[in-house]
Amino acid sequence: MFPEKCVVVTGGNRGIGYAFTRAVAQAGANVAIIYRSSKDAEAVAKKVANEFNVNVKAYKCDVSDTDLVNKTFQKIDDEIGPITGLIANAGVSVVKPAFELSYEDFSRVYDVNVFGVFNTARAAAKLWADRKHNGGSIVITSSMSSRIINQSQQNTPLTQVFYNSSKAAVSNLTKGLASEWAPYGIRVNALSPGYVNTDQTSHMDKAIRDHQASGIPLRRFAEPHEMTGQALLLLSDHATYMTGGEYFVDGGQLIW
Ligand code: NDP
Repeated sequence: MFPEKCVVVTGGNRGIGYAFTRAVAQAGANVAIIYRSSKDAEAVAKKVANEFNVNVKAYKCDVSDTDLVNKTFQKIDDEIGPITGLIANAGVSVVKPAFELSYEDFSRVYDVNVFGVFNTARAAAKLWADRKHNGGSIVITSSMSSRIINQSQQNTPLTQVFYNSSKAAVSNLTKGLASEWAPYGIRVNALSPGYVNTDQTSHMDKAIRDHQASGIPLRRFAEPHEMTGQALLLLSDHATYMTGGEYFVDGGQLIW
C-alpha cells in the first residue's frame, strides 16, 4: 500500500503511536519513531523492522525543541527518507484539580501537545516546500476531549483542564495549517480518539473506567490498533481531497 513512503511517527515507540508505527510499516513504508526518553525505543524499532522488512529507526528528540526537531527531520530525510508523511502523535497530560495547577503544568502540557505538534508539522512541511515536492500528509493526534469534557476520577469533577484545552487548540491549529499549506499540496488532518487502553489511561481506576465505558455506545475503551485505519487512510493517496478535517474514532461517544 505504501511502498516508497517514509512516515515519521512522534511517540511511535509505545501506546497509540506504536500501533501507528506497526500499521505504517506493515503497509510497506519506512518509519522514523521519535521518542523523548524511553530506554527501549531502538529495540522497538528493530523489532518492527524485522517483522515487516522495512527500515524503521528510532530518533531521540524532544518535540518541543525547535532546533532539535528541524535537525532531526533533516537527518531522517537523509537516512531513511525522503519523508512523505507525519503522524504528530506525542502527547502528555497532567491530572490535577484546577486550583492546584501551575504555569509549569501548563507549559508541560502545551509545550508537547500544541507547540510540539506545530514544530514537527512545520519541520515536515518546510522540507516539502523547500524541495518543491507537491504533497505530503500530516495526521495530528488530537482527542475527543477537543469537544467534550470528561471526568478523570469518580465522584470528583476533575477534568484535566490543560489537556482538554490543548486538544481543542491543536484541532484548531490543524485547520489553520491545512489552510496555509494547501497551496503546497500539503494536507493536514486531525484524528481524535476516544478512550484508548494505554499508559495515559492507566491512572483511571476500575470504577471510573466502567462508568466511562457505560457512556460509550460500543461500551468499551478502544485498543490502540483500532486507531490505525483512519490514520492510514489520511496518509494514503485515497485521501487526496481530505484536508482540514477532524475525524473522531471514539466508539460513538460523541453521539450522546
Ligand atoms: P502514551 O502516554 O502511551 O505515550 C506517549 C508518547 O509520547 C511516548 O512515546 C512518549 O515518548 C512520547 N512523548 C511524550 N512527550 C514527548 C516529547 N516531549 N518529545 C517526544 N516524544 C514525547 O500516550 P498514548 O499512546 O495514550 O497517546 C498518544 C496520543 O493520543 C497523545 O497525543 C494523546 O493525547 C492522544 N490521545 C490518547 C487517548 C487515550 O485514551 N490514550 C485518547 C485521546 C487522545 P517516551 O516513551 O520516550 O516518553
